[in-house]
Amino acid sequence: MIVKPRNVPLIMQKTKTLLRRLPEHHPTRPEIEQDYSWRKAGLKGEIEIDYYISLLPEADYLIFNGLRLPYGSHHFQIDTLLLSSNFALLIEVKNLAGELFYDQHTKQLIKTLNGKVEALSDPIAQVKRQKYQFKRMLANLLPNSYPIEHLVVLSNQTSILKTNPGGESIFKEIMFGESLIFRISEMEKSHKKQLLTSPQLGIVKNKLTECHQPFDQDILEHYSIMSKDVYSGVRCPNCDSLPMEWNRGLWLCATCKHSSKTAHLTSIQDFVLLYNEPFKNFQIRRFLHIPSIYLTSRLLSKANLPSTGEKRHRTYHLELND
Ligand SMILES: [Zn+2]
Repeated sequence: MIVKPRNVPLIMQKTKTLLRRLPEHHPTRPEIEQDYSWRKAGLKGEIEIDYYISLLPEADYLIFNGLRLPYGSHHFQIDTLLLSSNFALLIEVKNLAGELFYDQHTKQLIKTLNGKVEALSDPIAQVKRQKYQFKRMLANLLPNSYPIEHLVVLSNQTSILKTNPGGESIFKEIMFGESLIFRISEMEKSHKKQLLTSPQLGIVKNKLTECHQPFDQDILEHYSIMSKDVYSGVRCPNCDSLPMEWNRGLWLCATCKHSSKTAHLTSIQDFVLLYNEPFKNFQIRRFLHIPSIYLTSRLLSKANLPSTGEKRHRTYHLELND
């Protein structure tokens, strides 16, 4: 059963919104585009591994995707977590191209692509660190003997994986997505004992769900972008052009001629993703270029957003998540 589906991470939603509203020749644009495509490749790899996970019997596992949990003063993130009554499995997904050499002496993953050699930090150590934190975090909910397994899974089938001669047993810890379910079957065979009852598993599930905190940052501040550099207005849901114009009850796009009654809703979401805050009537009116305060109130009340305060003090809240 999928407890936490894989959604587009909040930080990616923010980055994409910023790219949609930043001038084509803005000097920071290349950096933002690069960050976005790097995150997108990571997500693509995770989605590919989700396919192999979907082949497992659904009733046997609780599945959490992209869980980010607090630990002391920081957080750790698990790409995929499988929980059963018998054991847990943490999976770190890597989407890497080229030739990958896992050096067991230096504990580095050495990537060679188009003649360029690059050393990446040890992904096995990375997932083992997550496992350590996970175990400590749930120490009072999991019995000491409850096995917690880890795997690094490569999503790009066209990459080549090698290691030091004689050290091939490492391929039980780092492997391609295609072998994943066979490795999980082996784990099932070696963990036959039921260590958690259904209610105990339910408690762990609730704890993890409650503790998830998506990675968030003020995207404009992070890239030092001035608010005046960001295009405002209602964005066309059909072609992304800005701004649409309000005309007799409809938003009209001058570029593609698309019309919409509800295009302001995604642009309200854009505002919250960019400015990270609850908003008042005048702020959203200015951002969406809505001609009057009354029309703004009407559109906002129709949108049925959670709000606090009355009349001109009313503040609207839109919860962001992933
Ligand atoms: Zn359009």
